[in-house]
Amino acid sequence: MKTMQEVLKDWEAVIGLEVHCELTKLETKMFCGCKLEFGAEPNTHTCPVCLGLPGALPVPNRAAIESIVLAGLATNCDIEKHTMFYRKGYMYPDMAKNFQTTQGPKAFCMRGWLDLSMDGRGADERLFWKDLAEGEQSENMTRTADGYVAHVGITRIHMEEDAGKMVHLGGGEGRIAGATHSLVDYNRAGTPLMELVTEPDLRTPEEARQFMHKLRSIFLTLGISDCSMEEGSLRADGNISLRRRGTKEFGTKTEMKNINSFKALHDALAYEICRQAEVLEEGGVIRQETRHWDPSKKHTLVMRVKETADDYRMFPDPDLAPYDLTDEFIDGVRERLASIELPDQRTARFERDFGLSAYDARQLTEAAFAGDWFEAACAEAGADVDKLAKPLANLALNDISAYVNAHEGVDFADTPFTPVRGVALVRMLAADEISSKQAKEVFAAVIDEDKDPAAIVEERGMKQVSDTGAIEAVVDAVIAANPDEVARYREGNTKLIGFFVGQCMKEMRGQGNPKLINQLLAQKLS
Ligand SMILES: [Zn+2]
Repeated sequence: MKTMQEVLKDWEAVIGLEVHCELTKLETKMFCGCKLEFGAEPNTHTCPVCLGLPGALPVPNRAAIESIVLAGLATNCDIEKHTMFYRKGYMYPDMAKNFQTTQGPKAFCMRGWLDLSMDGRGADERLFWKDLAEGEQSENMTRTADGYVAHVGITRIHMEEDAGKMVHLGGGEGRIAGATHSLVDYNRAGTPLMELVTEPDLRTPEEARQFMHKLRSIFLTLGISDCSMEEGSLRADGNISLRRRGTKEFGTKTEMKNINSFKALHDALAYEICRQAEVLEEGGVIRQETRHWDPSKKHTLVMRVKETADDYRMFPDPDLAPYDLTDEFIDGVRERLASIELPDQRTARFERDFGLSAYDARQLTEAAFAGDWFEAACAEAGADVDKLAKPLANLALNDISAYVNAHEGVDFADTPFTPVRGVALVRMLAADEISSKQAKEVFAAVIDEDKDPAAIVEERGMKQVSDTGAIEAVVDAVIAANPDEVARYREGNTKLIGFFVGQCMKEMRGQGNPKLINQLLAQKLS
């Protein structure tokens, strides 16, 4: 198979996403008063409405509708005032009603958009943007100083309800194939679920990943969901087709279902680009089908050939009256949104107030809670914030992020590396009390031993010697002890500087300030 970069020279990938987000922050389900609780005893949060028993009447959850309108306004959607709930045929045991209540042609939120800032490695997958001049636009892409902005349309965000959960037992590794029996838990059935559908405006797997990152950070900021891809409260389906560069007509798309990590989304789309190109270049045709991404085997497999809309038998739900949103309601949500700082606004503030690059500022606001950690650390830095903001951002984005990413279930709020300790570490580094190599050691020790950086430096005798007098004495002694090397150095073999630095460091048991040693050696040897 060709690599994706080779394929994308001849083909353009057309990618759209369908994102499902459970409104986990609500108290109750979408159409009944059952409690929302992840991990409760199976079938303890059910009632006649969410089990679809005869005669039970649903009542829409006002708080859920407030949440979706909030999400719509935050993603630049128009809010549709007059909508209806529909029934969508769904014959599977995890939904006892045998239909899903969802919205029809008109959703609460229509015609929105998000702009993605693509730079650094994120921009590499899209070809040809470097041909544009800064500020120049081509289709949905605008060239920036170090990358491009991709304008991505959002078709709609509609309100629906989640299904229950099935557990397949007796072999088959938890999958239905090979299982001897299955259990069903209806606690999740009826959970308020938003479905966001994008326009087919994404062109690379990296843009799809960035879109999900951005959406997640917006929903987290709004406080409407915990957006956990592992627990399934945020899920993405990606659809993708290829077309020859320069053509406008869409190819046949395939859909990747229920992808549960950012990396899986990226890798599944990247694989599918290569697979489709191979089929098309060999004269084959792409079938419209749903495919399953297997992250361990790193390929996609056919799940089923796509249903058409007719298969769903959609019709207006006779139990639910048309839903009218009042201007007062929408204005109330707009007011609530005005009091929330969205990730893009926070990014701009980090750039402005702390002098960070756009890239760093965005990374901080998009990684879960990294921005909160950074802000708390900057507050702790007090008057030194101008000097320390950049090293604090580096600490958050490199060291702490690496630690958080490597430890499931740990986030910035509960690492031993608190903002106070972060400031203590960068202060010692800025004052040349420890070297950057020692700072890495201190960082690891703070995490392992849950102690303050100062205590670790003290215990391990790491304090870097920056006393010019003490260093000068060592430098003089080393020069006096190595007359041959001094002569060779003065004859032009300046590479020997490394030898002298090494001798001084050895003499000082690694605690001399390398910057000062280098300076003094250069002075005295010249
Ligand atoms: Zn219920």
